[in-house]
Amino acid sequence: MLSFPRSTEKLYYSDTFLYQTDSLVSKVGNNYVELAATVAYPEGGGQEADMGTLTLSDGRAIRFIHARKMYGQRANIAGFPDIQTGGVVEHVIHPDDVQHLASLRTGDAVQIGIDRIRRAQLSLSHTASHLLYLGVGQIRSDALAWTLGCHIRPDGARFDFGVSRRFTSEEVQAIEQIANDFVTRGSTVLTYAHPDHIDARYWACEGNVIPCGGTHIGDTAPIGRIAVRRKSMGTGKERLSCQFDEARFNVASFHAGSCGIASGGEPS
Ligand SMILES: [Zn+2]
Repeated sequence: MLSFPRSTEKLYYSDTFLYQTDSLVSKVGNNYVELAATVAYPEGGGQEADMGTLTLSDGRAIRFIHARKMYGQRANIAGFPDIQTGGVVEHVIHPDDVQHLASLRTGDAVQIGIDRIRRAQLSLSHTASHLLYLGVGQIRSDALAWTLGCHIRPDGARFDFGVSRRFTSEEVQAIEQIANDFVTRGSTVLTYAHPDHIDARYWACEGNVIPCGGTHIGDTAPIGRIAVRRKSMGTGKERLSCQFDEARFNVASFHAGSCGIASGGEPS
């Protein structure tokens, strides 16, 4: 198979708290812009995409409302059944700003910035979702083996599981307790790449390792109390969702490299 001729450097892997960067336009589409490098996380692994602004050299600001990864290559990496590596990130432009694309050319310099509060919320939500997932793994490993999907929003996260018997309220309570114990311990969260594939990423906490390419916070404490709820989605399908209404965002100190919630780094 021929490889796709372009790729976007994914700066959100190397620094979760990098909120803006200078980049170059690699393609202008009818309603999107592809960049040589981006800080914007494209929708994937259940996590919603970042939103933000492209600032042109003449000062005009173009809002993007979505980011998507395209033209990745299927890769055969143990533990990553659906992974696609490489590819480009397309930034989908706000309908009211599409007019500005007419004067944009491949090779033009732009600055890209993301909504950093939304990113911090998604990173916290994604981290909380893993704690819920670890709880399910301890209490109902049968459900974990039938994970149907997940959705990570700024204000909450949910998983759908295939099950032959429903979650009991006692099980939900036990799962919630396990998740909250991680928060109480204020455990360190690490994210790092597979040694052979930079696009194959891991999340790790207290020795629990989950393949994941999303964005996360560096420690569990800011999540605050996690509330877990169960919902039946019909015969054989259950949904567990988590919310964290006490999450601590030190918004005033948000800036690149230090945002009040520590960045996950490479394991030493
Ligand atoms: Zn993750």
